[in-house]
Amino acid sequence: MPWIKKEDCIGCGICVEKCSVDAIEFDDEKAYINENECIRCGVCHDVCPQDAVRHDSERIPFEVEDNIQWVQNLLKNYNTESEKDAFIARMKKHFNKEMTVIKKTLEKIDLISEKWMQWQSKTDETSPCLSFPLSFKILIKAR
Ligand code: SF4
Ligand code: SF4
Repeated sequence: MPWIKKEDCIGCGICVEKCSVDAIEFDDEKAYINENECIRCGVCHDVCPQDAVRHDSERIPFEVEDNIQWVQNLLKNYNTESEKDAFIARMKKHFNKEMTVIKKTLEKIDLISEKWMQWQSKTDETSPCLSFPLSFKILIKAR
């Protein structure tokens, strides 16, 4: 999910104009992204002349810290060593499952991308770009 660094936004409106689903609005002359509308297409990253549209990866350290805080808070509910060990094992299982979901999703995205390239190289017909954003949106909204 992209986000806009307010300090860097000059309110030029380019991202608002280019967003295909009208997910970007203005608040006090600074753009912000409505995450319920955003389909994560990434176009706003490319068009912002100020590099004010930032990528989620910058939030990784904060999200890791949030996860650790969450685990530490829950850990307080367990008294014995064996209870704590069992809880930590469950947490590791949980995060390993999350990692597997992401890994397999990335593998499948690579396959989609390969098929897409093959399809494009085989046809001279009108580009399917017109239908792609809609199916992409459905895919994202279905999550
Ligand atoms: S990522 Fe795409 S849908 Fe989301 S705000 Fe940017 S341009 Fe709009
Ligand atoms: S394109 Fe960049 S600078 Fe212009 S309104 Fe959007 S975020 Fe702000």
